[in-house]
Amino acid sequence: MTIQRTLAIVKPDAVAKGVAGEIITRIERASFTILAAKLVHMSLAEARGFYIVHRERPFYDSLCAFMTQGPCMPMVLEGESAIQRWRDLMGATDPAKAASGTIRKDFATSIEANAVHGSDSPESASFEIPYFFSSFELCPR
Ligand code: GDP
Repeated sequence: MTIQRTLAIVKPDAVAKGVAGEIITRIERASFTILAAKLVHMSLAEARGFYIVHRERPFYDSLCAFMTQGPCMPMVLEGESAIQRWRDLMGATDPAKAASGTIRKDFATSIEANAVHGSDSPESASFEIPYFFSSFELCPR
């Protein structure tokens, strides 16, 4: 048993489309515990800081601009193997390659506007969770 925490984000494309509720329903049906959630409209500096590991990638500027287009909804999820289980629920980065039944297959528009984010390792989660939430904003139970 490895109980983990992961940072999930409903990205601006999915919030704008009005599918945040459907994504949260999938999270709840998969038995994650939502420890925290809020709407945030990131500044360019905040988006660039969040995606700092991608700063050398050719799509960095475009990705950061996309993430500032409108509000997104960061959340902290907890559960057994939460990091991998949330990534399985999200599906592949490119919706054209995502398995059926995954969030990205059903709600993503493109490889960039792909509906959701999930930490890819415990190290990423330890950077990403406090990027959005202080310990006082988490509701463990
Ligand atoms: P993830 O872990 O599945 O989110 O994928 P990555 O860590 O590789 O990339 C981070 C985010 O950058 C993705 O979720 C996409 O929003 C975006 N992205 C990834 N690959 C591309 C690409 O080839 N082009 C563009 N424009 N955006 C990309």
